[in-house]
Amino acid sequence: MYGAIEAGGTKMVVALGDDNGQLFKKDRIPTGTPSDTIPKILEFFEGNDIEAIGIGAFGPVCLDKNGSDYGRIGKSPKLPWVGFSWKEAFEKTGIPVAVDTDVNAACLGEVIYGNGKGLGDVIYITIGTGIGVGVYCEGNLLHGMLHPEAGHILLPVREGDVTEGSCPYHKNCFEGLASGPAIKIRYGREAFELIDRDEVWELEADYISKALMQYICCYSPKRIILGGGVMNVEKLFPMIRRKTLEYLNGYLDTAELGDIDNYIVPALLDGEQGIKGALFLARSAR
Ligand code: ZN
Repeated sequence: MYGAIEAGGTKMVVALGDDNGQLFKKDRIPTGTPSDTIPKILEFFEGNDIEAIGIGAFGPVCLDKNGSDYGRIGKSPKLPWVGFSWKEAFEKTGIPVAVDTDVNAACLGEVIYGNGKGLGDVIYITIGTGIGVGVYCEGNLLHGMLHPEAGHILLPVREGDVTEGSCPYHKNCFEGLASGPAIKIRYGREAFELIDRDEVWELEADYISKALMQYICCYSPKRIILGGGVMNVEKLFPMIRRKTLEYLNGYLDTAELGDIDNYIVPALLDGEQGIKGALFLARSAR
């Protein structure tokens, strides 16, 4: 049996499951400070014979397995968690942990059990409160120096869009222009209240497609999976497919792009991609 944690800014999803991605037990714990959240997490796992725990955590988080800071949260806006170490938190239990980012865990979940099954090169993008990109490249999650932060690539602002953007670091990054909070800043309403306003989704699809065009050029994925709250707006998909091809403007000619409906696809696991990916991640714990 394995354990899994999907550590988010507002809640921690904890689960027990097996290495086939089957969840036996799942719970949600509100994210407070480490000192009030971690004991509740430990309590959930207590008394179970767990081989290892996989953790998909909000970042920035150190993912260098050979470094002493593996699993430690870096400079984050979630101040009580700065310097907190997932590895140290479980040291006393003797259960080994494997840590990756929340979006990488979700990417892994889709690659192993969902819409990326069988593919070695996939990117998973979550568009919700923030925008994150998990990159699975030649059979491995991409980490590098820290981990990719491809939600913060700068995008050309469309003429007439005077939004300041929601990212405190960049005026016109993808997250700042197209996340749920960005939509709220631009229109003064929540995304779900704007569902019938076509111009909202046309602009949203435009920014997403500009980002996808760049990801296709940089990462050369064999499939792009889109998840997160904003992507529950299904009518975005045909718009994004059409516009992404428009922005590529015939520059790339591959079989995958020729079958665009199967190239840019929704997540399959219905919100469980993160916790199932974390469960699979547990196998690589040390
Ligand atoms: Zn940004």
